Amino acid sequence: MLRIAVQSKGRLYEESMELIAQAGIKFPATKRTLLVPSRNFPVEVLFLRDDDIPDSVATGTADVGIVGFNEVLEKRQRVTVLHELGFGRCRLSLAISKDVDYPGRQWFNGKKIATSYPAILRDYLDKHGICADIHVINGSVEIAPGIGLADGIFDIVSSGGTLVSNNLAEVEKVVDSQAVLIGGNLPLSDEKQSILEDLIFRFKSVMAADGKKYLLMNVPRRSLDGVLEILPGIKSPTVLPLADAGWCSVHAVIDESQFWDIVTRLKKVGAEGILVLDIMKMVP
Ligand code: ATP
Ligand code: ZN
Repeated sequence: MLRIAVQSKGRLYEESMELIAQAGIKFPATKRTLLVPSRNFPVEVLFLRDDDIPDSVATGTADVGIVGFNEVLEKRQRVTVLHELGFGRCRLSLAISKDVDYPGRQWFNGKKIATSYPAILRDYLDKHGICADIHVINGSVEIAPGIGLADGIFDIVSSGGTLVSNNLAEVEKVVDSQAVLIGGNLPLSDEKQSILEDLIFRFKSVMAADGKKYLLMNVPRRSLDGVLEILPGIKSPTVLPLADAGWCSVHAVIDESQFWDIVTRLKKVGAEGILVLDIMKMVP
């Protein structure tokens, strides 16, 4: 049985559980407890605050964990990033009042910076030879400059909306973050290692399908070259004969972001009956 630590509630909870569900791992529908074994796969989920996940993995309380890379960097535990999971994307940035004419990072010399990430900030300031006072606050860091508690902040930014509504401007991006799967630095038993490999294989298959669509269409033989030109970046589209010898069926996987562009062009060169299907998994 492999124990996987997941944030009990908060921004990473839903997507972590969604990824696990997409990997085919099911849980009993009973009331949620701290530790929940799957009913069809040898894993159990341990629900924790995200701050406690790196430590739980480093000490072996959990075998692996899903947590923001920002927490991994800040907590300085002996853990290894096994895989990036592609959700919970954000960045850690320095921000100051938008009314300040910012001359560059040396502005922070002698200033006071509020943050919940003192270790990452300390590293950054040392690296750039900036001497500033770090003021640790947990939660609502963004209000610190407005109430005179600090000159600037170092905090998580995603859309930037929170900064704008607090009259702040992002001036230095320090690190990018996303949810990651972490493991401890001690070897796992053979049994756990093999479960982990299966788990990572499943996660990769789910992630590979993310944002991809399966496209099927009927194409007159004479338009086939035109259609294949529109799908150039796509690894060998499948071309199948149809009962009517003048037509064939073309199948391809495309990025959802290219969807409208590609479909519009395909129609123009004569593709018909275009079907678009969701892809659940892509097994390499
Ligand atoms: P906990 O109660 O578990 O300690 P928390 O309040 O520390 O939760 P959340 O706000 O739920 O943490 O954020 C969890 C993680 O989600 C962050 O550490 C970060 O990796 C990621 N994240 C992504 N986008 C954002 C965002 N806009 N604001 C905050 N966190 C974000
Ligand atoms: Zn937290």
